Amino acid sequence: MELDNSKIMNIVNRYNKEDITIATLCSHSSLQIFYGAKKEGFKTLGIAKKEIPRYYDAFPLAKPDKFLVVDEYKDILKYEDYLVKNNVIIIPHGSVVEYIGGENFKKLNVPVFGNKNVIDWEYNREKERFWLEKAGISMPKKVYDPKDITFPVLVKLFGAKGGKGFFIAKNYEEFKEFEPRVPYTIQEYVVGTRYYIHFFWSAIDNTGYKLKKGSLQVLGMDRRDEANIDEMYKLGSQEYLRKLNITPTFVVTGNAPVVLRESLLPTIFDYGEKCINASIDLFGGLIGPFCLETIVTDKLEIKVFEISTRIVAGTNLYISGSPYSDMIEDNLSTGRRIAIEIKNAINENKLNEILT
Ligand code: AMP
Repeated sequence: MELDNSKIMNIVNRYNKEDITIATLCSHSSLQIFYGAKKEGFKTLGIAKKEIPRYYDAFPLAKPDKFLVVDEYKDILKYEDYLVKNNVIIIPHGSVVEYIGGENFKKLNVPVFGNKNVIDWEYNREKERFWLEKAGISMPKKVYDPKDITFPVLVKLFGAKGGKGFFIAKNYEEFKEFEPRVPYTIQEYVVGTRYYIHFFWSAIDNTGYKLKKGSLQVLGMDRRDEANIDEMYKLGSQEYLRKLNITPTFVVTGNAPVVLRESLLPTIFDYGEKCINASIDLFGGLIGPFCLETIVTDKLEIKVFEISTRIVAGTNLYISGSPYSDMIEDNLSTGRRIAIEIKNAINENKLNEILT
């Protein structure tokens, strides 16, 4: 399927390509994005809510040249003319979609790095599963009927932030005890160790690990610190804690660096490639950074329980490079890689392949 971006290209075609501004919301991975953009010589604009955050003063090399202060992040739709006049390209990170709202984000008449249509596939867990299974990627089993819970499962509520309200059940009785009143999905609880793989797919580069279109990089990996599931075992068994009204939550509080056994890298690249190829068929391609969230079992099977289709906060670990990106280029963060991609696309007249 072709990338659906003719409307945005009408705007991009009028941009002064010598004077592009990279913008994003002041949160999540914005320091990294601005730092990388400045290194590549772009102007930068931080979109802030209510006031300019003071913490940027502490990191002068990552402080954007200018700020746009809005009352609510979704008000950015009111500033489309201003943004277009300043030749702005918006870099979406995890919080951009959450704060602006998926539908508003898709309507935004400002060029965005990546494919806006990927949102429909990421935020709907059924469609996400359809995409990954079509790609041939191994996922945790889905349980369709709670009565079939005969092994540990994770009950995931739709749209839950930080896994709030998720719970583990080992049988139907345990499920009944907490049966959610909102839409949910039930997934096999995979016992193993978690790895969050930071990929970058370039639609326009033809060097390195080549795919049928473009090329694929692994720029890093992390593990998320999640409160309170990570440490709650210290207090006693989950059955005991439940009696005290303490149930596990999966709120991400930070990230830790990890590397994977080298023998697992072929599977990781295979998954990344399959994921990209299926995305091209389904919606014109997932462009730029994405993350496969995986659990590796003691049989060394890799199960993907989720995909993030933009820069993830775990990449903040690697502002000056990771054990993987160091073997591609010095000081290559995902933020800087995005800026390089935009620069290359400008030089090769290929912005139509990376913006929507
Ligand atoms: P998610 O909202 O899908 O990112 O899940 C939140 C957290 O729940 C993850 O970061 C994992 O720690 C955990 N998790 C999600 N799916 C599974 C699974 N199938 N098996 C075990 N743990 C999981």
